[in-house]
Amino acid sequence: MMTIETIDQLNMQYADSTPQEFLAAMIARFGKKMTFASSLGAEDQVITEMIAGIDKSVKVFTLDTGRLFPETYDTLQMTTARYGIPIEVFFPNDRHVEEMVHTRGINLFYETIENRKLCCLVRKIEPLTRAFSGMEAWICGLRREQSVTRQDLNPVEWDEQNKLIKLNPLINWTEKQVWDYIKEKNIPYNKLHDKGFPSIGCQPCTRAIEPGEDVRAGRWWWELPQNKECGLHKK
Ligand code: SF4
Repeated sequence: MMTIETIDQLNMQYADSTPQEFLAAMIARFGKKMTFASSLGAEDQVITEMIAGIDKSVKVFTLDTGRLFPETYDTLQMTTARYGIPIEVFFPNDRHVEEMVHTRGINLFYETIENRKLCCLVRKIEPLTRAFSGMEAWICGLRREQSVTRQDLNPVEWDEQNKLIKLNPLINWTEKQVWDYIKEKNIPYNKLHDKGFPSIGCQPCTRAIEPGEDVRAGRWWWELPQNKECGLHKK
């Protein structure tokens, strides 16, 4: 297991690296023991493009919760076609979904935070745990400026919940850098981003935001900001 000292060293070593340099180094270090969890959002599309330019054999996966937008499926299709890489899709356990829906209703998440967290557990966290099986590290597209809950993140983190190294190559990037890169490379992206959706998750739990609103205001908008993580990014 990697120690806190090693993580601190890596953060110092790659403090001035570009995301591509950082990714190349982490691919060389972790190889097949590393996976990229893509939600197919703007940041993740940038990372997919970077990874495809370095090593197409890196494991990439996404979660299909069963409640995604049609535009998200279009993005998945466009991405696999563009880069010629297999993006493995993990689905929730059907029995767990059936039991949850039978006992709490199809739109349980609006009723209580407990219900919302249960739905995220069944539809996201359990499949994520399967996707992480046998891995040592995972890559994700978090940026520091995205949320009040993400201000103190570093490029390399210890993910205590999943007992894995978490790698955040775009942690220092701004939203403008992400979109400049997407335009420059003509990267396929989710068309909902053009309709006021900076952050795209499940359809019933994501809405467009107004100009000036926080970028994550459209996710679980009925909850307080400190509750707005699905469990994937707890530290
Ligand atoms: Fe369920 Fe909403 Fe979480 Fe998706 S984001 S898993 S629909 S509670």
